Formats: sequence, structure tokens, C-alpha cells
Amino acid sequence: TVKWGLIGASTIARQFMINAIRAQPNSEIAAVMSSSPERATSYAKENGIPLAVSTLDELLGSDIDAVYISTTNELHLEQALAAIRAGKHVLCEKPLALTSADARAMVAAAKAAGIVLGTNHHLRNAGSHRAMREAIAAGRIGRPIAARVFHSVYLPENLQGWRITRPEAGGGVVLDITVHDADTLRFVLGDDPLEVSAFTQAAGMAAGGLEDGAMCIWRFKSGVIAQSHEGFTTKFAGTGFEVHGSEGSLIAKDVMTQKPIGSVLLRTAKGEEELSFDREDLYVRSLRQFHAAIRGEGQPSATGEDGVWSLTSAEAALQSAKSGKSAAIDPKL
Ligand code: NDP
Repeated sequence: TVKWGLIGASTIARQFMINAIRAQPNSEIAAVMSSSPERATSYAKENGIPLAVSTLDELLGSDIDAVYISTTNELHLEQALAAIRAGKHVLCEKPLALTSADARAMVAAAKAAGIVLGTNHHLRNAGSHRAMREAIAAGRIGRPIAARVFHSVYLPENLQGWRITRPEAGGGVVLDITVHDADTLRFVLGDDPLEVSAFTQAAGMAAGGLEDGAMCIWRFKSGVIAQSHEGFTTKFAGTGFEVHGSEGSLIAKDVMTQKPIGSVLLRTAKGEEELSFDREDLYVRSLRQFHAAIRGEGQPSATGEDGVWSLTSAEAALQSAKSGKSAAIDPKL
């Protein structure tokens, strides 16, 4: 049995990850840590978790094998390093840290300790994105030329907290959503970005100098160019992901989401075809891959290195928005 400790009494754990952990065979949630003893206790009670603690030492000293970190972003580094020192496997939320250098330190520490480190980029687990990746790899759109990502949403009111008010906690739409888009582009295209040019905006929701909207243009190693739009303030936009190639286009709708929904259309000279794909819960699949990695079978669906790539990409987007120039993306891995 893999015994999990939750670091962070978070919304994402409550909405998706507790279920995903419990959906695995031989898997249980043994403890939850919150910085507030009261919140730890009430969260444990609401979610049927046997142990509630309010310090990292207590959590890491309890009988657990792995931790899932879903605190605010500035806390991930220290909590992951402590868990790695204690010999626990770490599934960490994105962004892995506030800087790519810190994320690299996490990857190095995990490697040296021989523990599994994963980044919870859920979209790699979506049947839609896997179907697109497979179609591209099978040559069904010929040579990929360009991609477009539509991932500007409306941040739900219950989440309008640290993301739009606290720069020191790693708020802002780029660290929140651009990281996912950079990772999903890498995954679907099977390619790595070399540089990015970005504009950001504060469109009325974010405060404290944070951005709540971003448009990025990416250049990939193969020569593919991509654009991505991330936002917290567009209520009616819908999401999508398109890849256009020399022999065809993949047009996916409603796929930049936490749910196994949406559609993927392949359009070629032969006509249009809806691709079928599996509708498994994204987070359940993420956990299954992580458990397999613990057993020494393969890797988490997004590794620590993938987390370094996505954070380096987001960092470069922020740098570009600030400088008004394109920024190189070098994860130094
Ligand atoms: P939350 O705001 O729900 O939780 C973050 C922290 O805020 C918690 O650890 C908790 O601190 C504190 N907190 C939560 N609720 C309250 C409350 N009612 N009063 C006071 N403090 C509270 O964040 P999310 O769940 O949205 O995000 C957490 C992490 O997960 C982030 O790193 C984010 O980027 C990532 N994320 C990833 C997603 C994915 O699909 N991969 C989706 C959503 C988020 P404490 O633990 O000390 O109690």
C-alpha cells in the first residue's frame, strides 16, 4: 500500500486529488497538513483523513510513503526538499517553484535521493491531448507548422484569492496557466520551445502588479510556431487547442480543462473525422502513472524535468513581457 500525506488543505486536493489517490488499488490517504491546526482538523474530518497535523515535521514523521504538495506556490520548494530528505516520493503541483533554478534544485535532490518526483500537469493525461499527440506522431497532419492554444477562462470566485493578489505566493496567470500551456504544447508536439515573446495585461481582476491575461508566441526547435492565450477574466471564451500541418489540421474544443471532455477533429483533403479518445479522469490517470513509477515501472506522466521546462517557459514569458523583447528558453537540464 502507498500511504499518502497531503501537504496543503487545498481546493484542488478536495475537488480532484483525494478521489484520484483513493481510486488506485493499494493506496490510502494517511494524513493532511495545514498551516492552521483548525483547518487541518476540519479538512481531515470532511474528507475522512485519519490524521491532521499542522507542521511539516509531524507530517514527514508520520507513517507515509509519498506526499502530494498543493500549497501556494512559494511553499513548494522547501516542502518538496524536506520530503525528499525524509525519503518520501513527491507529486508536486505546478509551478514546481517560483524560479527555474529552484525547480532544478528539486529535480537534483530527488535524483540524488533516488525518489520519484512528478509535476501535476494534468493535461498530459487527457485522452484528447494524447489522441492529438498520437495523430501527429503517426504523420496524420503531415509536417506540423503552427499551433494555437485557447486557454483564457474566468477564475471562479472561490479561487479569487492569492492568485490575483499575492505576487510573493507566485500569483498571476502566467505561473498558473501558461505553465500548463507550455507543457501541453511540448507534449502534443513532441517538441521543445526555444524562445517566447509575450504581452501581459491586468484586465481588472488582478492586483499588486500581477497579470491576469497573457498572449504568448512560441518558437519550437522543429520550426513550429505557436500562440497561446491565458486569462482569468474572460467569461465566455471557451477553450481549445489546434495544430496545423502540411497535410491536415487538428482542431480540439473544450480540452483545456480539468475534466475528460471536449472533442478533437482531424481535417484533411479526405474530409473531417472526429477522433475518439478515452474519457478517463485526468487526475486518476496521473496517479496511476505515479504509482507505477514508484514501483519502478516508467515515469510519472509529467516528470520533475517537465516541471522545470514549463516553469522555465513561464519565466521566459514574464521576462519577455517585462523587457519587450523575445526571451530564450533554456531549462539547463
Ligand atoms: P487553494 O487556495 O485552495 O489552497 C492553497 C492554500 O491556501 C492551502 O494550502 C491552504 O493553506 C490555504 N487555504 C485554502 N483554503 C483556505 C481557506 N478557506 N482559508 C484560509 N486558507 C485557505 O489553492 P488551489 O487548490 O487552487 O491551488 C493549490 C496549488 O495547486 C497551487 O500550486 C496551484 O497552482 C495548483 N493547482 C493545480 C491544478 C492542476 O490541475 N494541476 C489546479 C488547481 C491548482 P493550508 O494548507 O496551510 O491550510
